[in-house]
Amino acid sequence: AEFTALDNQADDAASEEEAELSQPVLAVVGRPNVGKSTLVNRILGRREAVVQDTPGVTRDRVAYDAQWAGRRFTVVDTGGWEPSATGLQAAVAAQAELAMNTADAVLVVVDASVGATATDEAVAKVLRRSKRPVLLAANKVDDERLLSDVASLWSLGLGEPYPVSALHGRSSGDLLDAIIKALPEAPREREAVAGPRRVALVGKPNVGKSSLLNKLTGEQRSVVDSVAGTTVDPVDSLVELDGQVWRFVDTAGLRKRVHTASGTEYYASLRTKAAIDSSEVVIVLLDASEPLSEQDLRVLTSVVESGRACVLALNKWDLVDEDRRHQLEKELDRGLVRVTWAERVNISALTGRSVRKLAPALRTALASWDQRVPTGQLNSWLSELIAATPPPVRGGKQPKVLFATQAGIRPPTLVLFTTGFLEAGYRRFIERKFRERFGFEGSPVRINVRVRE
Ligand code: GDP
Ligand code: GDP
Repeated sequence: AEFTALDNQADDAASEEEAELSQPVLAVVGRPNVGKSTLVNRILGRREAVVQDTPGVTRDRVAYDAQWAGRRFTVVDTGGWEPSATGLQAAVAAQAELAMNTADAVLVVVDASVGATATDEAVAKVLRRSKRPVLLAANKVDDERLLSDVASLWSLGLGEPYPVSALHGRSSGDLLDAIIKALPEAPREREAVAGPRRVALVGKPNVGKSSLLNKLTGEQRSVVDSVAGTTVDPVDSLVELDGQVWRFVDTAGLRKRVHTASGTEYYASLRTKAAIDSSEVVIVLLDASEPLSEQDLRVLTSVVESGRACVLALNKWDLVDEDRRHQLEKELDRGLVRVTWAERVNISALTGRSVRKLAPALRTALASWDQRVPTGQLNSWLSELIAATPPPVRGGKQPKVLFATQAGIRPPTLVLFTTGFLEAGYRRFIERKFRERFGFEGSPVRINVRVRE
């Protein structure tokens, strides 16, 4: 929460919510060969990070998901950052500086069998200014005899040195306990509401909402009402589609067909917003027989801002002829630029055409909404992408993307940690490539950028 999100997407109405969902970041710093990668592997409890035996080889992966005592956090191995400074001491100090400004806590690793070197001192000097917690690991303490050397590392002024042997796993549990204590608590993620998944059916008046609901519920109302253990809010409807029960939220208004005179539009839009808010996925009904209207666009904007998954249903398809279809394609290309990720289904609530395609589309959208890309996978993809197409230079400076994490789901939210501003066009490029690689059809993807100089 101490980071300033300088550069949210225009779409992103929920940056505060996003910050809440972030998992804390631990950066690991230290001079080469002290055992950072080995220790990162230890922390991860698996051999995901590849230890490079060739000095000077840049690691292509820098960030990973870790978990200890039920707490999730991101571990960043700063060995993968190409430092701009020349000379070992300056380079490592620069990495420490970046780490301190980027992470929620910093773990500095020193080789206890060698003792504090001038480079270690330079790093310590930087980190003593850190506003975030700093932990000191005295690595390569493979046996008891080396413990006496560990005490001398108090001289770095970074507090208590934790003796560990990354290679043999010695005492790393104590270090991890200390790390967990130092990291800020990340609030729990919003969990799925138990029971059927929640669907909102929205669209302008007369688009066919109640007709569709009737078609979907039809004869099977009684079956659905008897689903064991489900209590239904009287304003909701349980609907069985494709072998799965769904909760269509706030359908009372649709059933009663209360279309009264003045002021209705205002109340209808409030009602639409409320329905979207209590849903997980939204079916936006559009009238394919008419041009897209202002009202349609307002509904779409509400959906985009809500961060909910979405399926676009083009209703009244029975009225669409060849000419209209060409016209419609053009209108949709222009009108749906903000929801190009949503699946489109051409239906007719009147005839029942393709109505059964809605359930698979809803399932796909929700699966995307729930999807999480592991941090390691995300960063190996991202580093390749950025190496091939770096961010445009701005004001003579080349912004660097240090690493990324998927900070949350529902909706999927990426946070990119960078050293400079990323233009909207470049963020869109990243989103497009991200979708090409990982899918996410039917779900919005938020990309937040945290700029650190
Ligand atoms: P980095 O450059 O700081 O990431 O260091 P690495 O993790 O690549 O380790 C450098 C070398 O130190 C490797 O040969 C490791 O096997 C070795 N090493 C790492 N941790 C320990 C340890 O606890 N004890 C011993 N004896 N060697 C270690
Ligand atoms: P709502 O206000 O969104 O609930 O819309 P309704 O379900 O009341 O539908 C408004 C009008 O559109 C009614 O006269 C429906 O019969 C008609 N309608 C709904 N769906 C279709 C469709 O797929 N094709 C055609 N031709 N008419 C439809």
